[in-house]
Amino acid sequence: MTNWNVLYDCLRAAAPELELRRDEPMNRHTSFKVGGPAALMALPCSEGEAKAVVKTANELGIQPFFLGNGSNLLVSDRGTDRFVVKLSGRLEWGDVREVNRELVNWGGGSLSRLAAAALDRGLSGLEFAQGIPGSVGGGVYMNAGAYGGEIRQVVSSVTALDVDGTVRDFTAQECGFGYRKSVFSENRMLILKVRFALTQGDRAEIKAKMDDFAARRREKQPLEYPSAGSTFKRPAPVDGQPVYAANLIQQCGLKGLTVGGAQVSEKHAGFVINRGGAACDDIVKLMAQVRERVFQETGITLEPEVRYLGREGEGWNF
Ligand SMILES: Cc1cc2nc3c(=O)[nH]c(=O)nc-3n(C[C@H](O)[C@H](O)[C@H](O)COP(=O)(O)OP(=O)(O)OC[C@H]3O[C@@H](n4cnc5c(N)ncnc54)[C@H](O)[C@@H]3O)c2cc1C
Repeated sequence: MTNWNVLYDCLRAAAPELELRRDEPMNRHTSFKVGGPAALMALPCSEGEAKAVVKTANELGIQPFFLGNGSNLLVSDRGTDRFVVKLSGRLEWGDVREVNRELVNWGGGSLSRLAAAALDRGLSGLEFAQGIPGSVGGGVYMNAGAYGGEIRQVVSSVTALDVDGTVRDFTAQECGFGYRKSVFSENRMLILKVRFALTQGDRAEIKAKMDDFAARRREKQPLEYPSAGSTFKRPAPVDGQPVYAANLIQQCGLKGLTVGGAQVSEKHAGFVINRGGAACDDIVKLMAQVRERVFQETGITLEPEVRYLGREGEGWNF
């Protein structure tokens, strides 16, 4: 059981300027707009503060949860008993820097803003990332991707903090990127800084590509409702043919299926949306029903792409 007062006092002593919030409503930090409170949230805005936070938590035997932009996250209605650490947007240095023709971005920076910074400089490679509403750290953790592009294609190295606050550098190869995963999905490190190797391109061509991807998103995705993007991962290929979760869900006639305020989008079956006032429990129940129906009709088990954060003993109940 975490003693929140002790943790608070130790963090204050280790980093006097650190932003700390008690009983922070997590629905303010998730793109689904659901989630109860986190007893304590720290928002480090520099490498020094991030180190102090990780080191202090480790000394007290506390395993923090590292939050990005919450765009791939479902938080329990009952909140979480994890200590939440979110790299602040209020930085000691700007979001994006250019060093030796590489772009360097703080883990808490926005992927979309990074893509815009690349466009400004006529650098190609991040066109796919423009409409992904996550942070740079979350993008690396998930190896986010779209329209044939993936984070792994453009990362040159990552600086992370180990559980005891030690700085560690990872080459792209050491990041162990796979489909919607990386080495960081399997360890407990905080992604602090990411370097991107891009190629000089034609600004007009980069812009045209980004505009095309944005138009496709607007046409196909229910961007007018809160969601976490694709709810389920792409299943393994069958007989060498790719299988898409959205197609399976649509084939099973599940578009529009509703539990409370949660609904399988009519526009894109791969998205569960918050139609208004959805509870986390509604979304989890709906996901369970979708999984069951898809399994009954196709024999394929859908695995969530969305991450779950709750209280001890809680988790996906399927
Ligand atoms: C409308 C919409 C469209 C989307 N489209 C796409 C898409 O095209 N492609 C795609 O891949 N995804 C897409 N997503 C999902 C989501 O944006 C990505 O998965 C994104 O990479 C998540 O980043 P985040 O910062 O929001 O991470 P969060 O949701 O905050 O966290 C996700 C995981 O990353 C970990 N994490 C986050 N930051 C750090 C850090 N600094 N250090 C260590 N661990 C960290 C968290 O602990 C958590 O386990 C979409 C989501 C929405 C809402």
